[in-house]
Amino acid sequence: MDSYERYLKIKNSVPDDVEVIAVSKTRSIEEMDGAYKAGARIFGENKVQELIAKYDSFYKDVQWHLIGHLQRNKVKYLVGKVTLIQSLDSVSLLNEIEKQFGKKGAIADTLIEINIGNEESKTGILVEDLDSLLIEVEKCSHVKVKGLMTIIPKGDKENNRYYFKKVKELYEKLQKKDFKNITMSTLSMGMSGDYDIAISEGANMIRIGEGIFGKRNYK
Ligand SMILES: *Cc1c(COP(=O)(O)O)cnc(C)c1O
Repeated sequence: MDSYERYLKIKNSVPDDVEVIAVSKTRSIEEMDGAYKAGARIFGENKVQELIAKYDSFYKDVQWHLIGHLQRNKVKYLVGKVTLIQSLDSVSLLNEIEKQFGKKGAIADTLIEINIGNEESKTGILVEDLDSLLIEVEKCSHVKVKGLMTIIPKGDKENNRYYFKKVKELYEKLQKKDFKNITMSTLSMGMSGDYDIAISEGANMIRIGEGIFGKRNYK
């Protein structure tokens, strides 16, 4: 199977209202072509340079999501090219996005990345620090928060479900509040190995790499 068949298979197996992000990090334009031809129109990259390079050389009717950790000094390159920054995880990053998108009169759509397992090795904001970030988002003119993203700790199915549930609870709690610049409409959780569980726990956006493109070779 190539990325054409694998994308179709996944897309057809999930509910229509679940957005499938084709995570194309490390993949060539040629490898991505199959997924595009099968209908994929949102691609996720974890590095800014790679996103920009592919933005310039791939089809123009696709959207690009930044899903990896974002360094402040790279934010300026994303203006006008990224549709959704899924990895907002600190006040300092928020302020840089506000500044750089503001310079061009643009609006940045973002998801707040939650480090739900309190793992030191992972990026994302800790739940205990979330309120201070939300307060700052309310002061912005060029940043909108559309929902939450998470990468859960490795574990068995039961464990996965436990963490997805926790993020869903947080999402629903925030949905009930009335913050300026913040709407909770996107819940991005689930990757190749656990997206079915994530969907059953409420994900409406899944991020699939190996499930579409096969095993990654990191050189
Ligand atoms: C690589 C990556 C994925 C996709 O992982 P797969 O296991 O290949 O599906 C999803 N989300 C993020 C943030 C990633 O970096």
